[in-house]
Amino acid sequence: MKEDLNPFKIAQQQLDNAAQIMDLDPAAHAILREPKRILIMSIPVKLSSGKTRVFTGFRVQYNDARGPAKGGIRFHPEETLDTVKALSAWMTWKCALANIPFGGGKGGIICDTKKMNERDLELLSRAYVRHLGRDMGPEVDIPAPDVYTTPQIMAWMLDEYNNIVRHNEFGAITGKPVEVWGSQGRMDSTAMGGIFVLREAAKMLKMDPKKATIAVQGFGNAGKYAYTLSKKIIGSKVVAISDSEGGVYDPDGLDLAKLEEAKEKTGSVQGYKSKNAKKVSNEELLELKVDILIPAAIENQITGENADRIKCKLLLELANGPVTPEATDILFKKGIIDLPDFLVNSGGVIGSYFEWVQNQTGDYWETDLFYAKLDKIISKSFHDTMDVQAAYAAKGKKINPRMAAYIIALDRVAKAMKAKGWY
Ligand code: GLU
Repeated sequence: MKEDLNPFKIAQQQLDNAAQIMDLDPAAHAILREPKRILIMSIPVKLSSGKTRVFTGFRVQYNDARGPAKGGIRFHPEETLDTVKALSAWMTWKCALANIPFGGGKGGIICDTKKMNERDLELLSRAYVRHLGRDMGPEVDIPAPDVYTTPQIMAWMLDEYNNIVRHNEFGAITGKPVEVWGSQGRMDSTAMGGIFVLREAAKMLKMDPKKATIAVQGFGNAGKYAYTLSKKIIGSKVVAISDSEGGVYDPDGLDLAKLEEAKEKTGSVQGYKSKNAKKVSNEELLELKVDILIPAAIENQITGENADRIKCKLLLELANGPVTPEATDILFKKGIIDLPDFLVNSGGVIGSYFEWVQNQTGDYWETDLFYAKLDKIISKSFHDTMDVQAAYAAKGKKINPRMAAYIIALDRVAKAMKAKGWY
């Protein structure tokens, strides 16, 4: 039977598997299978051309037992409600695993930012917030950037929200520019968190990161910073990288300045030139023989169809949902250490938490403090996950790292719901 790639079905399947392994209370399981609240919005925008277009927007508040819903907003031409639902569930597990005081949420608008001018983007961003109105806020639901949304978009959204409540509430949105009290360190915190996880995992595997080769799928916020940081911080050699057009592979290693130049001039990293560089497709990049593979783009990249051809030793899911359940099983059987998205990319929302704490207290931190705190939280998440996996192994139950991380997160959310009397 062909694998079902509906992200929400996948999220539910992962939840069901974990619930069974950990013997989760059936009532908690039933609550956690569906979002608490879904907003579907029809958003008319009078565009700069004078024409009016009606956009469809979503916001899903999946669970708020442990704190306000938290999660990014995607601007994507193929956005679907089921994708947003899945991503909001994953945000819930992400915040619980990191043990920060948030629940999970996600938003999306069906739109193609590449075909919109800046003015129209602003109009759309502001209209989305007007439609959310009081259904967001620092203690209710806190948006942030995600695929094709930026700190500038967050600043417009914040301004619109502040107009609604008629005062400044900087903690209503995170991932803002520092000029409006975004946090130092937040821009690269997703990739930085991933690099801290990489460092810990390499230690565990007795792999020398300086000698490791890396392939990164994606050249957006996460992918580009992952490239820079893995070179700068751990000294690994990045041999392949890609964007939505395709990728480039050079066994001698890639140069960032030249990659950026290629992207600028030709519109894609594929325009990169060097003696041994060759073009690869996004699919080929995933199958390269490298030590570490970092999918940092979008969901459903490694599936039952190609998982068997993956050759890395360590796989770090910096994107949300890049590996399907069928692929997870295949990779586990092959002995590839596949570390799940809601652990590896949690640096983004941990950074958002730091930003929110600073906004709520008015006490602003230096970058070093931000990174030190991020390192502590995410390294602990990694070791907690490995410990749970080892504890199950000691009981004769082999579970993959994703299930171990699920068990920690679900246990925390279930206990909060229980304490509040939800079941
Ligand atoms: N969009 C990021 C994520 O998927 C960050 C979310 C946030 O900071 O709220 O984790």
